[in-house]
Amino acid sequence: MTKNPALTGSPCQPIWGTGNLFSSQGVAMPSILITGANRGLGLEFARQYAAAGWSVTAACRDPSRAADLAALSVETVELDLGDPASIRRAADRLAGRSFDILLNNAGIYGEGQQFGRLSEAEWERVMLINAIAPLKLTEAFLPHLLAGQKKLLVFMTSKMGSIADNSSGGAYIYRSTKAALNAAVKSLSIDLAPRGVTTLLLHPGWVQTDMGGPNALITAEQSITGLRRQIEAVEPGQPLKFVDYAGEVLPW
Ligand code: NAP
Repeated sequence: MTKNPALTGSPCQPIWGTGNLFSSQGVAMPSILITGANRGLGLEFARQYAAAGWSVTAACRDPSRAADLAALSVETVELDLGDPASIRRAADRLAGRSFDILLNNAGIYGEGQQFGRLSEAEWERVMLINAIAPLKLTEAFLPHLLAGQKKLLVFMTSKMGSIADNSSGGAYIYRSTKAALNAAVKSLSIDLAPRGVTTLLLHPGWVQTDMGGPNALITAEQSITGLRRQIEAVEPGQPLKFVDYAGEVLPW
């Protein structure tokens, strides 16, 4: 775990040990842990929450090479979702800390999605990162979440994980891993509700990132501005919602 030197002189000085930043009025700022924060949508989440004065912990595979994160007032932590030991190490390093929001953002699309050329090994790899690792991360970070105020658990899924919305076929691997994530998160939302945890599934739209490509319909800034609005609108204890960046409720 490294502390970004850019924090020094920030209007919100970090109080390490609690993980909270305090505003100039002495009010604790909300805290968030974001996975896959070194590029794409995760980076834009980190940028916008840091600009809003939140205490941001940005997880990525190699913080030493995360140049865009280094320019932000965020704390970085090493996390490889493909390695269970890495998840445990990150949780141990942040032991005793609290996070208001746990944002499971990292995901991959995968190769070879056509019927007739499907690879079992690739399917397993994508299932691990998109569906299994977010649940394992949540298991590891549940104490940190329960110690926070908001206790909000957010997952970046995709409309492509919607079975009802699938009118074009294909993308077997990506679609099925996001559908699996949605199913697992539904159970999680029920199981953790008695502990005060509220859960949200987000679709970011089709966004110009490495995954979305240059022809995507909206920018990362537009998507994350909308998704932050959806996160802000969550009422504690509300049932699980599957919504997009514009607030449209999506079919399962
Ligand atoms: P992206 O630009 O490809 O970025 C993916 C992020 O996930 C990167 O930070 C990447 O880190 C990280 N990641 C991948 N494998 C990882 C691993 N094993 N451990 C830790 N981090 C890992 O994708 P994006 O567009 O920002 O997508 C973010 C989320 O939104 C994903 O869950 C995606 O499925 C979802 N989504 C995106 C779109 C879209 O149009 N862009 C649409 C629907 C849903 P590295 O740099 O280390 O690879």
